Amino acid sequence: MVNLQKVDIEIKQFVDKRMKLNEPYENLKQLHEKTEKKLALLNEEVTQAKERIRKTESLLNVEKSKVKKWDERLKNIQSSRDFAAMQREIEIQKRINAEMEEELLKDMEIEETSSVNYEKENEAFEKLNQELTEEKQKFEASVSAIDAAITEQQRIRREIVPQIDENLLKRYEIVRKKRQGLAIVEVIDDRCQGCFMNIPPQLFNVIQTGKTIEVCPACNRFLYFKPLLEENTQNESDGKS
Ligand SMILES: [Zn+2]
Repeated sequence: MVNLQKVDIEIKQFVDKRMKLNEPYENLKQLHEKTEKKLALLNEEVTQAKERIRKTESLLNVEKSKVKKWDERLKNIQSSRDFAAMQREIEIQKRINAEMEEELLKDMEIEETSSVNYEKENEAFEKLNQELTEEKQKFEASVSAIDAAITEQQRIRREIVPQIDENLLKRYEIVRKKRQGLAIVEVIDDRCQGCFMNIPPQLFNVIQTGKTIEVCPACNRFLYFKPLLEENTQNESDGKS
């Protein structure tokens, strides 16, 4: 059963490692996605600014030639009332045109800034693409190595499991789930190495005989006495907690 725990711990470590391995790759993937979205947004900004510029420019052309025509007409107007009215029209239109020109400048600025930002982001994006490809290869290679190791440990586990009493195995699985994978611990100097509580002297004596399977009264973990284990098997278990 101690062997089973060793295998289970081994498997858990590999699984943890596999999960951690995922992290840099996942982070890079997220950054890649974020940059891609930013690029699309900047591209949209540039496109929209260009569209606005095109529209404003053509409208401005029309309105400017209108003003020009009105200016011409002004010269031929005899009535001072009509003259004043025309002049007022011209003034209004000129103000509108000036506003449009201002808008045009703003949009040109937006287009310029967004284009520059797009180029910058795109450069970063291309680097990210390359990094991501490399990281993916690295990740996949490491994962397949770890998966192979896990498969091997699971094979060993399948060999160990039939040798263990069914009820005992059930209890082991329950304690293992409750105790973060550590269901069997060593007793050192009458202390449980799982929860570090003192084991009653009587129980400690029983454990040292190794005749029955005992659990810690405080944490329910299975207890074993290492010197006894080493006597019984040549297995050199290290009972690190
Ligand atoms: Zn304990």
